[in-house]
Amino acid sequence: MAVISHMTVYLAELKVRTPRHHGVGSVEGGIDNVFVCLRDTEGRCGWGEASPWPVFTGTAQSAAGALDQHFRAHVVGKEPSSVASIMRIANKTVAAAPEAKAALEMALYDLYGQQCGLPVAELLGGRVRDEIPLSISIADPDFGRDKDLATRAHGDGIRIFKVKTGFAEHGFDLMRLETLRSEFPDVDIRVDYNQGLVAHEALVKLRDIAIFEPTFIEQPVPADNWRAMAALTAAIDVPIMADESVFNAVDAYRAAEAKIADLFSVKIMKSGGMRAGQDVSAVAKSAGIACYGGDMFESGLAHLAGTHMIAATDNISLGCEFYQARYYLTEDVLEAPFACENGNVQVPTGSGLGGTVDEGKIRKWSSVIKE
Ligand code: MG
Repeated sequence: MAVISHMTVYLAELKVRTPRHHGVGSVEGGIDNVFVCLRDTEGRCGWGEASPWPVFTGTAQSAAGALDQHFRAHVVGKEPSSVASIMRIANKTVAAAPEAKAALEMALYDLYGQQCGLPVAELLGGRVRDEIPLSISIADPDFGRDKDLATRAHGDGIRIFKVKTGFAEHGFDLMRLETLRSEFPDVDIRVDYNQGLVAHEALVKLRDIAIFEPTFIEQPVPADNWRAMAALTAAIDVPIMADESVFNAVDAYRAAEAKIADLFSVKIMKSGGMRAGQDVSAVAKSAGIACYGGDMFESGLAHLAGTHMIAATDNISLGCEFYQARYYLTEDVLEAPFACENGNVQVPTGSGLGGTVDEGKIRKWSSVIKE
């Protein structure tokens, strides 16, 4: 197969429509994401994206540096079918930097899939589902704007809302849950604190939240407070989900043993790629823990990679939150809209990631380009 002849790294700022607040960290104006293009000697281009969130995983500057300065030498001249071997070297070359590794693996699989004419989901073991229920997040400090978003999404067939809690008063969270329950009775409501509660106040507040019977309550307390996570999981009937507490398969193994959660959120930007995300799910499955397809502030490109991973991973069964490309970015990087029908993300059937990136948009938004 054709080898990789060029690697281009872009550090881009994508514009977002509205502010979003979380238990830890806010987003306003724009997000810094990194894009990587791997070109082969026959002119194909495989695309990858790193979508870091500084309060959660790392910075875009760090991801761009890992790709440009540390991974480049191990990629140019190689066949993309060597993805496992290249990722092994990447993991030995740079500690952490999971978003950079996710971007590298994504671009390799996109190119490999194009070369052999197969969708990435088939290269990850084959699809077990063709569509994935989509969740949107309710995280705007202006709840009126979020109700408009909820109404629009509901009209599009979306039946999962994830309410971001813990960034304002407890009463504001209860009011929003009560309003959404009454105005959207057919919607599956979930809650995500993004680490926003102080451990000693969490139990009383979660008992109030549990009255609204959310499907799960995600990451109520700080990532490293496993003792409080385990206590809340034991005390509350509503399933508790670990997100920031579980990045990779080692975390998943230890978290399952420590019983810190009933459910895990799997994100390629935490695990360092789709295969590593499947590893997290496999560990979880062995402990009887179902998984959810989470994401960071991503464009449609990274959404596509997450979609292929979930399509090929039976235990990531709780839907996905790949809503940013359609509902949050002012403009996506894919030429065609990220595909959703009746509230379900459609798993692409084309080769590679199955989407076409508009390189002109990425260049327009990029402040740094390394070729
Ligand atoms: Mg979360």
